[in-house]
Formats: sequence, C-alpha cells, structure tokens
Amino acid sequence: MKDENERRGIGMTSQRTRERLVQRLRQEGIRNEAVLNAVSSTPRHLFVDEALASRAYEDTALPIGDGQTISQPFVVARMTEALIDDGIPQRVLELGTGSGYQAAILAQLVPEVFTVERIQRLADQARRRLRELDYRNVRVRHGDGVTAWEGEAPFDGILVTAAPRGVPQELFAQLADGGRLVVPEGPQGHPQELVAYHRHGDELSRHGMGLVNFVPLVGGTQ
Ligand code: SAH
Repeated sequence: MKDENERRGIGMTSQRTRERLVQRLRQEGIRNEAVLNAVSSTPRHLFVDEALASRAYEDTALPIGDGQTISQPFVVARMTEALIDDGIPQRVLELGTGSGYQAAILAQLVPEVFTVERIQRLADQARRRLRELDYRNVRVRHGDGVTAWEGEAPFDGILVTAAPRGVPQELFAQLADGGRLVVPEGPQGHPQELVAYHRHGDELSRHGMGLVNFVPLVGGTQ
C-alpha cells in the first residue's frame, strides 16, 4: 500500500520538479505567492494518465481524453491570480472541470468551489480524484455549466476554462456585485482573449490579459 506522501505525490523527485515549475511561473510573471504555493503543493501528475505523469510538471497543456486537455500551468496560475488578486472570493464557480486540477488549486485558496463538467466520464473521474486527495471544499456536478448551478448563485468568482464566443448572459447574471469573472473569449481555432470582468452594480468593467488557446465551451451534456 502506498503511504500518504506517495499518494499525494510528495516524493522527493516530484517535489523537486514541481519547484522547478514554480520557478518558471515566477519568471513568466506570476507574482501571487498564494497561487505559487498552491501550484507547489498540488500533485499535477495525479490529474493526468499515468503514461503522461512524467510530463506533468512541464508548463504545457496535456490531453485528458474525450478531445479535452488539462490547461497549461501558467494559464491556470494567471487565471487564478486574476480571480483572487483583489480579495479572496468566498464562493467560486468553475465551468469545465476537466481533470479537476484547476479546481484543486482553487480549493486551496477560496472557501467553496463549485465545478461543473459536461462530460460524465471526466466529471466522475475528477470527483473521485478530488475526494481521494482530500479536497473537501469542492463540489463536482455533471451538467452544462452555464445553467447547471444557478440554484447556488450568486458566485463571488466565476472561472470559465472552455472558450465561449461571447460570454453567455446567464453567467453574468450569476455573478455577485463586486464579483469577478475570468474567461477565454472568442472562437476556437483562433487564439482567444483571456478577459477578467469585474461587476460593480449593473456595470461590468473588462480587462484583457492576452491571448490563450482553449477548447470550446459546448452546450448540452455527454
Ligand atoms: N479546468 C480543466 C481544464 C478544462 S478543459 C482542468 O483543470 O483540467 C475544458 C473542459 O470544459 C472540458 O473538459 C470540456 O468538456 C468542458 N466543457 C465544455 N463546455 C462545457 C459546458 N458548457 N459546461 C461544462 N463543461 C464544459
């Protein structure tokens, strides 16, 4: 039986490679120490297939099946930073659970995480992983993220990890006053713009953060 450290991936080798990843994120401009700490303590190799585990601490997106990918660590860190830099949101909705890695990072930084995935297999796998790794403040739901958790709205933070052409109005409607929504906006096949929206009453400010490449946000479930 694997001991606790091994199960969480805190063996010497993986901790060293993880620190190299953190160094690299620092060099690329990630400044938030809490985010860097979360990357340092999250066993990304347990969020990909065993065959890809040796590449888990490279700063690249990797396939997770069903045509989907676990996001590049730099992009995960950048989006997380944008969500929490001006204050910790209490309740965060993530659209696009995928592997569960982004949700695990969020779980270490905010009190409550709600994450929705439209592909049943990925939702089940992520729920199992997050439970095994003891991230207890994350709830995973299978459904179309745009509407699946309206009953729990409003959220102080919404993080979208698949790209809509334009942000669905239903999502803005679930954002609390003072809340932030971070989203890659634009068609697939082209780089999308990573955007942070900040809600003040009925006003939304929009802040572009550069180009990214995400799989598309798709309606319905599978
Ligand atoms: N955050 C993930 C990476 C997400 S990849 C991680 O850390 O691994 C994008 C995911 O969004 C895919 O798994 C895809 O199935 C999902 N997705 C796409 N459209 C969706 C929708 N409308 N609702 C919920 N999930 C969606």
